[in-house]
Amino acid sequence: MKIYDTLIIGGGQAGVSVAYFLRRRKLDYVILDDQDQAGGSWLQTWDSLRLFSPTQFSSLSGWMMSKSQEEYPTKTEFIRYLQAYEKRYNFPVRRNTKVISVTKERGIFKVETNQAIWYSKTLVSATGTAGQPFVPNYPNQELFQGNQLHSLDYRNADELIHKKVLIVGGGNSGAQILAEVSKVAQTEWVTLDAPQFLPDDIDGRYLFNAATQKFLDKPVNTSSGVKTSLRNIVMVNSVKDARDRNVLHAKRPFISFYEKGVIWRDNIQEEFDLVIWCTGFKANLEHLQSLGIIKNNRIETNYTRSVQEPNLWLVGYGSWTGFASATIYGVGKTARQTVKEISEVFNVGSD
Ligand code: FAD
Repeated sequence: MKIYDTLIIGGGQAGVSVAYFLRRRKLDYVILDDQDQAGGSWLQTWDSLRLFSPTQFSSLSGWMMSKSQEEYPTKTEFIRYLQAYEKRYNFPVRRNTKVISVTKERGIFKVETNQAIWYSKTLVSATGTAGQPFVPNYPNQELFQGNQLHSLDYRNADELIHKKVLIVGGGNSGAQILAEVSKVAQTEWVTLDAPQFLPDDIDGRYLFNAATQKFLDKPVNTSSGVKTSLRNIVMVNSVKDARDRNVLHAKRPFISFYEKGVIWRDNIQEEFDLVIWCTGFKANLEHLQSLGIIKNNRIETNYTRSVQEPNLWLVGYGSWTGFASATIYGVGKTARQTVKEISEVFNVGSD
């Protein structure tokens, strides 16, 4: 029975970031990924997606992405970069390998997959959030006879010509999908609060810098007087165009569904053919259920390290696994610290 030093579960940007820092250690490791190619969940996003991070904030540790044609890269450019990144560093990846459960046997992790059983002394879970699309509960949702789609399953607006579409969610996904669908269909947009748009003259670089400064508790240069958050909607060209067409208006949530659509707060009913839920994701921790350490869909961590299972690290899931760890820009820092801690377990030195 072969026992690895480390197994990384998930071969998206978080998994390969950990591999980048691991590759110079004298440790025996493998990435297990359930897809048939590199690219992580970017492979499952809609066709016209534009990243909200400019090129220099869309690069992983050690190797810059080449400049995009426009300020914000397309998903295809980023997937190509991820594929090239994996090739450049020749990471050991096992594809089409889905981890089903993780248990402990005499202090070693037993990792059961759809292919084989793997054993490892330490484990990094980097399975992202795309496996757990989140849809909020609304009264009478089951009565609605139209279609419902999560943004994860939206590809393009080809089938939506002349349809009536309700888009729910006030982030970049909601804004970009609304921008596209509203070109061919009649749309309404629902957000919990008024959507926060980043001003046109403040680009994505400012957003990431300001978020970092805030996190470090350093004063943010407020000469522009603009308050920013990584949750702001970035004005990529398609969203600017939607604003020019006067479709970027959001309503507060409806109170209930009915058979043909939704009932607004003033009790007016409105018919819809389709609801697109751009309402985000939760951490995909299904494979770790068997360890019995998940509470409220989270695992208690000290930075990325599990408190209850100190030989388990969680990378890339969101702020609970390190500042901006669910962004391309942020994941490198958490990956580096994770590998530092793994190296200490094996006493093999670190950066
Ligand atoms: P993933 O990309 O989901 O990778 C996880 C990998 O693990 C996948 O290959 C998955 O198939 C695999 N996996 C899952 N479960 C298992 C299992 N049990 N066994 C084996 N393999 C498994 N961030 C930015 O910085 N800039 C942006 O512009 C930006 N735009 C975004 C737009 C959208 C629509 C979304 C949803 C997110 C965006 N993000 C952006 C956030 C973030 O960068 C991405 O979500 C990113 O894909 C997360 O990478 P990850 O490696 O953590 O997870």
